[in-house]
Amino acid sequence: MLFSKTTILSLLAVTAVDAGNRAWEPPIHYAKAAIASRDLSGVNNIYFNGTNVSSHHQAHQKRFFGLSNPATTGAYPRLWPNGNIDACFEQRSHLHQGVNKPTRQILYDNLITARELWRQAGLEDNNGKFRFNILPDDDAGCERNQRSTHLLIMYAGENNRKMSTTVGVDSPQAAPESDRPDSELGPVMTLSDVIDIGMGNVVANYAHEMGHSWGLHHEHQNPKWWSETFTGVERANYFFGEENFHCTNLRDYATVMAPYDGQPDYIKNAYKNEICRDRSKASRAKFAGGFNYVPITDEPGTIDDERNEPDWESIMLYPSNAGGRVDASGQKLNVLTKRNGDLIDPVSKPSRRDIAGLKKMYGVKTSFFAKLLNDKSNPLRNMFDGIRKKDRDSGCSS
Ligand SMILES: [Zn+2]
Ligand SMILES: [Zn+2]
Repeated sequence: MLFSKTTILSLLAVTAVDAGNRAWEPPIHYAKAAIASRDLSGVNNIYFNGTNVSSHHQAHQKRFFGLSNPATTGAYPRLWPNGNIDACFEQRSHLHQGVNKPTRQILYDNLITARELWRQAGLEDNNGKFRFNILPDDDAGCERNQRSTHLLIMYAGENNRKMSTTVGVDSPQAAPESDRPDSELGPVMTLSDVIDIGMGNVVANYAHEMGHSWGLHHEHQNPKWWSETFTGVERANYFFGEENFHCTNLRDYATVMAPYDGQPDYIKNAYKNEICRDRSKASRAKFAGGFNYVPITDEPGTIDDERNEPDWESIMLYPSNAGGRVDASGQKLNVLTKRNGDLIDPVSKPSRRDIAGLKKMYGVKTSFFAKLLNDKSNPLRNMFDGIRKKDRDSGCSS
């Protein structure tokens, strides 16, 4: 009996699906809200969908901290097909520097410059991959029924600090036929041009948001870098722990704690420990600061076990004072430092590891298959060799 190439591929496909995708769940939960990286925008609009990381996910060891689901099909959040993001500006205008302007006019130049930053750092887009393709406003791809596969770019509004992007292609929260707003029907990027947030540089901030859209999580939220208190995993060596994560310095900490005013200290402390250590609790409390700092232990993602230290140059790593409140003397307080107290400096461009991580993320299919078939310890290899020997018609010469 001959096995066709299709047989082999489907066999491997089953294995790939088993490795962490929730393939047996209904494909879309419209009722669930999207996970978004909210980037310290404020306290509103933090969603949590309770997605669990399967242990299989963590078995994949990659050079990045981000998504691992394939593009186009399967579980959300997905990667973009070949890393190509087709984007549309929200069709509305905003008052900006005294003039009413369409979203495109406010954001276009800085966004294109942000893509150029990635290019200069080594992420080419001339080989059919990693295009950040801004479609004309009247393009068919920008119609409501295409929202689930297109990025909607919104402007936060003048002096609004909101900055948030869905990581990869996230699950739609509503169907096009519903009466829900466009922003709930697919991946979204909301951009602010307030200067003193994030990296303190508008173009670098947009490059950071692009990193989220391609599928990268915050570098500092990799649980591998955090102490047992935050992750439940004992580590001899860690980079972030209670001594250098100053949760109470977060801008929205006081607001989130306000309902506990007048409560005894032990109650306040217990609540503080919840929202400052557990990301799902930070989310439920609408604590944007905590949500964006506390390690991600509850989302599909891939943890890099090949690296032993955070990438201090990553554009996905917050500088020490990101999200910090301004004290009485006008000083923006630090939230996260290195363990010796040294500051994490802002960066103005993606790092070499950011580029390598994204390339790895989007090359995952090829390298996964190649690795699988070359791995002598993989039981599938023997099966594959057997199939190969029988398959004289496969055209495979190796
Ligand atoms: Zn971010
Ligand atoms: Zn071959």
